[in-house]
Amino acid sequence: MRLTGKTAIITGGASGFGAGIVRKFTAEGAKVMIADIDPFGARDLADQMGDHAIACEVDVSDEASVASMARAALDTWGHVDVLVNNAGVTHLPTPLEDVSEADFDRVVAVNMKSVYLTARALVPHMKDNKSGCILNIASTAGISPRPRLSWYNASKGWMITASKAMAVELAADGVRVNALCPVAGETPLLKSFMGEDTPEMRAKFLATIPIGRFSTPQDMGNAACYLCSDEASMITGTALEVDGGRCI
Ligand code: NAD
Repeated sequence: MRLTGKTAIITGGASGFGAGIVRKFTAEGAKVMIADIDPFGARDLADQMGDHAIACEVDVSDEASVASMARAALDTWGHVDVLVNNAGVTHLPTPLEDVSEADFDRVVAVNMKSVYLTARALVPHMKDNKSGCILNIASTAGISPRPRLSWYNASKGWMITASKAMAVELAADGVRVNALCPVAGETPLLKSFMGEDTPEMRAKFLATIPIGRFSTPQDMGNAACYLCSDEASMITGTALEVDGGRCI
């Protein structure tokens, strides 16, 4: 019960890695808000978690929507201890000059602007409390980019730098900020990274992961739990690879 007494907002919590983090956090005693643009998925998972979870419909790229998510969490719990910026999207594998402006803007808004908007909505509260923890779900793509995913890769590199910049600025306020860098994982998003979900494409991706398997929502739940628990109270500004050795 390493998160007992803590409250956590998990964006993109209805699916994939976010759902893995929701399950681990509730198992470790936290109260969580499953904040997702998919209200049905969020409600469905919250129902499975019983009293430990609430659902909230949010578009993390929209300022008013993020402000209302933060207000709902504070009205419910009175405090927010942990924010996991997990919601993310990609463009399909495409030569970098052919990615449409609409797809580029969407990646920037959901993967990057959301970190700024959630900080505006929740950092003042964390500063007042002299305590808080923010975890940004970046990617190995931000460290070791794969071709044809260029603007997605760049958004995750931005997220890693944003995490370090936030960490150094907020350390004196008692707020820790870290990033997780997952390697390709077994989630609905995997197909979008591969372009096509075929045995050949899976083998190509797996060949780059020394441990020889894709990452899982459980892997991210375990790593996120550690970084957001008091066991990691001396850890801030790190970008932890959960990647089976991919970035070695
Ligand atoms: P997923 O598609 O399974 O889940 C993403 C969730 O985010 C969905 O529930 C979706 O509804 C929600 N979402 C999308 N846009 C949103 C918005 N504007 N506002 C609120 N919610 C929104 O994806 P996943 O694989 O679990 O990805 C989670 C994070 O992990 C993403 O940031 C992704 O970039 C990152 N990541 C994924 C992989 C991978 O291979 N799956 C690898 C490295 C990093």
